[in-house]
This record gives sequence, structure tokens and C-alpha cells, in this order.
Amino acid sequence: MTARLLDGRAVAKQIYEEVARAISERVARGGSRPRLATVLVGDDPASAQYVELKQGNARNVGMESEDHRLRSSTTTEELLALVTRLNRDDAVSGILIQQPTPIQIDMRRIAFELDPAKDVDGFHPINAGLLALGLPGGVEPCTPAGIVLLLERSGVAIEGANAVIVGRSNLVGKPTALLMLKRNATVTLCHTRTRDLATHTRSADVLVAAAGRANLISKEMVKPGAAVVDVSTNWTDGHQVGDLGPGVADVAGWLTPNPGGVGPMTRAMLIKNTYEAEVRRRG
Ligand code: NAP
Repeated sequence: MTARLLDGRAVAKQIYEEVARAISERVARGGSRPRLATVLVGDDPASAQYVELKQGNARNVGMESEDHRLRSSTTTEELLALVTRLNRDDAVSGILIQQPTPIQIDMRRIAFELDPAKDVDGFHPINAGLLALGLPGGVEPCTPAGIVLLLERSGVAIEGANAVIVGRSNLVGKPTALLMLKRNATVTLCHTRTRDLATHTRSADVLVAAAGRANLISKEMVKPGAAVVDVSTNWTDGHQVGDLGPGVADVAGWLTPNPGGVGPMTRAMLIKNTYEAEVRRRG
């Protein structure tokens, strides 16, 4: 069997087109133009590249954007001061703090301080809590929301499916499990203490690999015909690889490329979240 592509680049393009159209119609009606504020602490080149991509994505859909760069020795108080200013700035729709931040930054304090209505990454405890309770009105985190939308737009059935997620982080695994549950999947969340990982993964109609371990999921661990989403970004010999071993594409029914699967969806969801945050805040 050769797996069908879960094409993150193509679905992300659809989302950008939809948001661009919505912004242009909104502005034509006299509505406000959404504005994304990005914050980068330090000079990590990979993080800087991610921020530039996000800035470019925002501009391309007709959003305004502002790019805040802080030195790597920035304190939590200094970052809090910027977050407070952006919270109060009515022109700012969404605030994205590029992670990881340097070690001295207390991201827990930052998460609490961020205006939940502008938290386009969905990590404020109010947004995380709404998701955990299955209540509407919050902002869903970009990577999990991107995974679910990629599956839905590709025609993969989530309702009633056995969904197995490998990885339980607050960033990826746990919120992905909650979003799948909200869509009526039967969810199993695996981690390093899971006994006999293969038994679980082999039961998955939808398998999400988010462990950050190259070659963790062999083809023998995949149910024939399953939809497999490879979230991880591991680097081997200068190349990005995920968690899947060789041959998974011959067993799976659907498969994300890596790169080109979840990464483009994550950035597209940031843009979608920013547009929706503006609509929720200013009508
Ligand atoms: P993380 O915080 O390191 O969490 C990894 C999770 O995987 C943990 O829950 C860990 O279990 C579990 N795990 C690790 N090894 C395992 C094993 N051998 N068997 C079973 N479970 C195992 O990572 P993360 O932030 O969730 O990110 C996961 C991966 O996705 C990373 O490669 C990251 O770079 C990538 N990522 C990609 C995107 C994107 O847009 N493409 C976005 C975010 C993250 P324990 O909890 O027991 O330690």
C-alpha cells in the first residue's frame, strides 16, 4: 500500500487564502485590519527564521505586523513589561512569543500575564482550561489545531476512530488528545512510561507521533490503512526527520510528509487564530 499524502502545504495555502479573503472583505466594510505582534528574545538563528516566516505569512494575508526583538539577557520583568504594553495596545490583535525563550525567562508568569484574548498560541491557562473542559470561546494551540484541521480537510474520519497520540506535552500531545476527544475519537495518550507502545500504536486508526525520537515508530507498529501524522522535527545529518522508521508509507493509508506536513499547518493556524482573535475582540 502507498499512503495518500496529508499535504500540509496545500491545506495551509487554502487557509491563507480564506483568511486573506476575510480580511479584505472586513477592511472593505470599514472594519479593522488584524495586527500580529511577534516577540523574539535572543539571537537564535532558527527562532529568528521562524519569526520571519510568521511575519511574512501575516503580511501576505493583508495583516499588519510588528516585530519585537529583545536581547538574550532580557529578564522576565522586562518581557512582562512588553507583554503588558502589547496587551493594552488596541491595535494589536495577537501576541506571539517565539519559544524556546532563554532559560532565565519564567514562561509560566508570562503565560498568566498575556491577555487570553490576544494569546494566539493558545497557551494561557484560561485557553488551556477551556480546551480541557471542552468549552467554546478559547484559542486552540496552533500545532494541535493544525493537526486536526489537516486530517479533517483531507477527509480522514476522526469521529469514532481510535486515535493514539505518542507524546503528552502541554504543547502538542495533550491538547491534540483533547481536540480529538472533542471530535468524538476514542483517545489513547502514550508517553515514556507506556507499557508496550506497539500494542497501542497498532490499534490506531489515527496515529499522531510527537515524541521527538527518530525511528521510534517502525512499520510493524502501524495498522494497515491508518492515518499517520508525523509531528516531530528531529535533525539527523543536517536533515529534518520525524519519528517514523522506514517503510511506514507502505503500510499507512494516509501520511504527512516531514517536512511539509504539520509545520506549515502550525504557521497557518497562527494566522487564522490572529484573524479570529481580532473578530472576537472588535466584532
Ligand atoms: P516534548 O516536550 O519533548 O515531549 C515529548 C513527549 O514524547 C513526552 O511526553 C515524552 O514522554 C514522549 N516520549 C519521548 N520519548 C518517548 C518514547 N520513547 N516512547 C513514548 N513516548 C515518548 O516535545 P514536544 O514539544 O511535544 O514536541 C514533540 C516533537 O514535535 C518535537 O520533535 C518537536 O520539535 C516537534 N514539534 C513540531 C512542531 C511543528 O510545527 N512541526 C510543533 C511543535 C513541536 P514523557 O512525558 O514521559 O517524557
